[in-house]
Amino acid sequence: MSARPEFQLQPPDPLQSRCQHYAALDHISLPVWIFDIDARRVHWANEAALEVWNAATLQALCARDMGQDMSPSVASRLSQYQSDFAAHNAVFNEQWTLYPAGVPVSLEVRFSGHRLEDGRMAMLCEGQRARAETPEALRSVEALLHTAAMISLYDADGRPLYRNPAARASVRRFDETLEHHLGDAAVYARLRDALAAQGSATVTLPVNTALGERWHEISARRCRDAVTGGDAWLVSELDVSALKRTEAHAKFLATHDALTGLPNRSHIVSRYAAALDDVRSAGQHAALIFMDLDHFKHVNDTLGHAAGDELLVGIAKRLLGAVRSTDLVARFGGDEFLILVRGADIHAEVDRVHRRIAATVSQPISIRGSELRVTPSIGVSLFPRDGEDLPTLLRHADLAMYSAKAKGRNGLAYYDESIGVAAHARMTLEAELRLALERSEFEVHYQPRVCAASNRIVGAEALVRWRHPVRGMVPPNDFITVCEESGLIDELGLWVFSQAARQQAAWARAGYDLVVSVNLSARQFGDGELVAKFTAAMRAASANPARMELEVTESMLLSNCDEPIRVLRAFEALGMSISLDDFGTGYSNLAYLQRFPIHTLKIDKTFIQGITSDKPLAELIVAMCRLMKLSIVAEGVETLAQQQWVVEHKIEQYQGYLFSRPLAVAAFDQLLARTVETASSAVANTPAATATAAA
Ligand code: C2E
Ligand code: MG
Ligand code: MG
Repeated sequence: MSARPEFQLQPPDPLQSRCQHYAALDHISLPVWIFDIDARRVHWANEAALEVWNAATLQALCARDMGQDMSPSVASRLSQYQSDFAAHNAVFNEQWTLYPAGVPVSLEVRFSGHRLEDGRMAMLCEGQRARAETPEALRSVEALLHTAAMISLYDADGRPLYRNPAARASVRRFDETLEHHLGDAAVYARLRDALAAQGSATVTLPVNTALGERWHEISARRCRDAVTGGDAWLVSELDVSALKRTEAHAKFLATHDALTGLPNRSHIVSRYAAALDDVRSAGQHAALIFMDLDHFKHVNDTLGHAAGDELLVGIAKRLLGAVRSTDLVARFGGDEFLILVRGADIHAEVDRVHRRIAATVSQPISIRGSELRVTPSIGVSLFPRDGEDLPTLLRHADLAMYSAKAKGRNGLAYYDESIGVAAHARMTLEAELRLALERSEFEVHYQPRVCAASNRIVGAEALVRWRHPVRGMVPPNDFITVCEESGLIDELGLWVFSQAARQQAAWARAGYDLVVSVNLSARQFGDGELVAKFTAAMRAASANPARMELEVTESMLLSNCDEPIRVLRAFEALGMSISLDDFGTGYSNLAYLQRFPIHTLKIDKTFIQGITSDKPLAELIVAMCRLMKLSIVAEGVETLAQQQWVVEHKIEQYQGYLFSRPLAVAAFDQLLARTVETASSAVANTPAATATAAA
């Protein structure tokens, strides 16, 4: 067993061993110190350095935490130096201003690498009192050291002579030439030529830096190297990447739709026009595909706009996935999307896109817990066949899309002359209708509403007709839609209602207590003045609101907004009644309809005429009405069998050709007089007899 030591050795004093290690340097009269870059502390210093640093002892100096108020620019410069020492044996000469005890001391310092005993790279600093400099000179040196601007001096071959710390931090290699820095021989050549010709040049471009590719604004000017007197270039660079990003983002926002990220309408004009020029010069063909989602408005109205937006984003993604990168997809606005495709066999290209769209866009899409299925209607115009310029192609693709919708939606239609002709006809019709309103060419006819039990006329439905100067009597189905789409319905609807109100008052004066009903279009709910206008019309006509009825359809009520409820309640408050027209042709959701003030249900003629084939359905509807305590009007009663069914099912009223077609006022008055007569003379009062009499 070996003997235990009697006492433990004191651990050697590290500072003392350092002093021994650097003893030779202690005698130098110039300040010399070693800076531990990692520890941010002086590792060792000679006497002269202690004086410069204003430290009483080496111990006190080494105890100072130099990292405490070190600026970030100095910190990053030091770590840059550390790697430059290690990689390139670099030596730097800088003018430094130290602030021991707050008093500035300017030194010319030579920095070189120095390995510590533990192998880490430290910095040997050899100082020399700066010659008495002017304050401007001292400050300019400091500014150069600390500025974020990258300043470099290159010789006339683009080799680096000097870099300030910011420039040094930005280059990838210590000895990187200007050409390498720019990363583009052509740009370098242009810059060099410009310097030779004009003495200065400015360029903004992405350059390769230690931080990756950055946008630099570079200003270069020809000068002389103050050391050798040779030709040199002073290059100053600013990092403008953030600015470039903002600029690019602003540009993107201006040309793209914020919701879907697709190019927007304003961008389409330039982008598509350029693409068409390209197609023209390549002698190719192109197709403009105009896609619109069927019933998108319904999604917005029932699920809200946020859901509608989500759907559009989903559809945009699917569209992008469905096309090739060379097909240009854009959002035209609302639920309208555009795709420009090109190729030699353009019909095959359109086919390809159509098949892909049909396969992806119509797949169910989950939006806020609801599985939605939207189908697209697509219109196509061909370049150059259907138009040489973008506006013409757009107009024609749009018209083709409408024709696809008219053919039953979820389809594709190519533009052709006949579509153009139809669009022209519609425009002509609209103009004619405006004129017809001015010229009072409209007439209101009335169809009797009959009490099923007594077979007496108890009401009349006002139905508008257009007495066209050439075409004769035009039925409402031929022009109401155009009136609705063009907004003319507001004026026409008010006119019909005023006529009906006057007629109600006139019949009342003549001793006939009839309820006069008037059809309302969905669009009329959009007129904020509707209730006020109708109220004024009834007042002017001295009509009895309790004998006026409005007929609405289900689709008008199936929106998310409360406007229809508000309007209908206001009419109800005036004493008017509301009936639901064409019941059975829409959603037929009675529970939903409970929200609305509805008094009467008009069962659509297709059900009445189908009672023989589909009895249970018609009976179910009657049973539901009973449950909801609504009175019923059967529409379109044409045969005695149908009338019989109405009576058997205790349906209150009916309307139909069996009793009478809609009639002009004079004919209606005659019918009224006759039915009263026949009823009072107690002659057999068959509907057939009265209908024949009325015909
Ligand atoms: P509606 O409100 O359902 O009117 C009933 C329609 O059925 C009328 O057609 C009427 O002539 C027809 N009809 C009545 N009995 C029979 C029958 O026994 N058999 C058959 N096959 N049809 C019968 P009309 O007058 O052509 O009106 C068509 C539609 O135009 C109306 O349907 C209504 O929705 C709309 N309409 C008419 N006038 C106006 C109006 O002033 N404003 C608005 N917004 N729409 C109107
Ligand atoms: Mg009606
Ligand atoms: Mg109807």
